Amino acid sequence: MSDPSLAALRARIDALPPLREVLAATGFTAKKSLGQHFILDRNLTDKIAASARAPGADPDAPLSGQTVVEIGPGPGGLTRSLVRAGASVIAVEKDRRAAEALAPLVEAAGGKLTLVIGDALGVDWTALAPQGAAICANLPYNVATPLIAGWLTGPWPAWWSSATVMVQREVADRIVADTGADAYGRLAVLTGARAFATSLFDVSPASFVPPPKVWSSVVRFDPKPDAGDVPVKVLEKVTAAAFGQRRKMLRSSLKSLGDAHTLLETAGIPANERAERVSVADFVSLARLVQARATERC
Ligand code: SAM
Repeated sequence: MSDPSLAALRARIDALPPLREVLAATGFTAKKSLGQHFILDRNLTDKIAASARAPGADPDAPLSGQTVVEIGPGPGGLTRSLVRAGASVIAVEKDRRAAEALAPLVEAAGGKLTLVIGDALGVDWTALAPQGAAICANLPYNVATPLIAGWLTGPWPAWWSSATVMVQREVADRIVADTGADAYGRLAVLTGARAFATSLFDVSPASFVPPPKVWSSVVRFDPKPDAGDVPVKVLEKVTAAAFGQRRKMLRSSLKSLGDAHTLLETAGIPANERAERVSVADFVSLARLVQARATERC
């Protein structure tokens, strides 16, 4: 790392008080309703930040030149690591109390950290990051799935170049599940239709303050560039019907979509098949057929 301005930036961040002191000094106690479980261990936040790097990035400054959107910076542990890794960070935080805790970091970051106070569920991402961005976050567990689903079903090509997110391990399992697995369902199909997803590593409850009840995992999504023509809204309807009654045969669970028999026959899927045994590609074919039928009727 030979960039003197990055070295100076790191020195300013390293001179900030430890996160525990920041929490105590600002009275920033964790709120369960906001899914607040903070990571105070720099080794771990550095590892998560480095996992968001683009292929071929400089290992010493893995996010150099990248814009990174972070959801829920809280007191700023991961945010510090992202800025230290060279990123320009746009951080969206719902809890106003974080502004006070983050103020010294905003100043130390010298223009490399923009804090937006607001609900991530209501953000217009392309307006927030018009040139695109990588996503990196320790997601609030109560809104992790709707946020991820929103990113996967948004306009394509995606505004995000990759998404590296900490989620509950059970959610990570549902994201990366293969066809036939117990965890295979709506989230795995939506993910597989639009992205490559990998579960990178697990994180124990002891790594958080306060510790959650369950283990977490860091998952990385890389968007599939050619997935723009997947009718994702229809796909969501099809998988909702199919997995809403996952023990039933598709000829029965897909009745709400119209003539399920013909639909399945045209897609080359046995009518007595169950949802968990249908591949992502076959679900996409079904969605295309349902959409084509709807277009014909118009
Ligand atoms: N990034 C910090 C860390 O790793 O220590 C905090 C992570 S904590 C699991 C989740 C953060 O998301 C909290 O700071 C919480 O206030 C924030 N949050 C919760 N719901 C949110 C929402 N809808 N929009 C934006 N931020 C939210």
